[in-house]
Amino acid sequence: MALEITFLGTGSAFTDYRLNYHNNAVVHTDAGPVLIDCGPTALQSLRELGIGLQQVRQILVTHLHGDHIGGIEQLAWQRFYGDGDDDGPNWNRTPVCSTERVLTDLRTSLWACMDEWTDRDGCSRDGYDHIVEPTIVAQDTAFEIGGVCFELNWTPHVAVDDIIKPAFGVKVWRGEGDEVFYFTSDTTFRSDIGALYPRGAIFHDCNFAPAHGGSVHTHYSELLTLPDEVRARIVLMHHTVVPEGVDPLADGFRAAAARHDRFDWTGTRVESRMPNLS
Ligand SMILES: [Zn+2]
Ligand SMILES: [Zn+2]
Repeated sequence: MALEITFLGTGSAFTDYRLNYHNNAVVHTDAGPVLIDCGPTALQSLRELGIGLQQVRQILVTHLHGDHIGGIEQLAWQRFYGDGDDDGPNWNRTPVCSTERVLTDLRTSLWACMDEWTDRDGCSRDGYDHIVEPTIVAQDTAFEIGGVCFELNWTPHVAVDDIIKPAFGVKVWRGEGDEVFYFTSDTTFRSDIGALYPRGAIFHDCNFAPAHGGSVHTHYSELLTLPDEVRARIVLMHHTVVPEGVDPLADGFRAAAARHDRFDWTGTRVESRMPNLS
């Protein structure tokens, strides 16, 4: 299987759902789809792409913000109780994978929603621990799912001085590493991104909104300062829409990703399709 990534959405946290969905993605593995984050729009996007919720093999959680974890609760309930009105319970747990700190905080954020629950025998407690199946990984340490290797690398996102949010980009590769790409998730600008990830596509956080002081996202104007050879490997994401009058291709970028676009590891768009809403 070729190393490819499909975007559930490429929108910002505040995206208009008619324009785009949250910046979540699917990496295709021999063991099934691996989600990179699961925001509130992820379930709708999966449905439009024809990816069943029960097929999801793992959810990699890059960090705790609503547009990246806000769909996990619903996904977990639906996998457990059944996908549709005429579908019975599946009793399937939902896997989540990240660093220990992120998974501990994820449990804290969802525990009150999922503590009381109903199993086959009736109401019970400790629902989160029964329905969600955490896998802890260390940062900068490779792990493999279905023939694809993953690694979580810390990235600055809401990070200044002693304020350091646990936030991670995802390095993804196959085999001996010939095919490799990097997904920044949410990150501030790093001028050395090309040296940190010297091969393959860099799917990069990009914000077109008026620049302001802050340490959350990367602005398009900052990406324009990168060398030509680095921009040529960058696929823009998390931007919702490219504004009128801006041409990322003319500015030397590889592409600007749209909802449901599928890319190979070089950042070449393999497929582009609008949601099938039928
Ligand atoms: Zn985000
Ligand atoms: Zn974020």
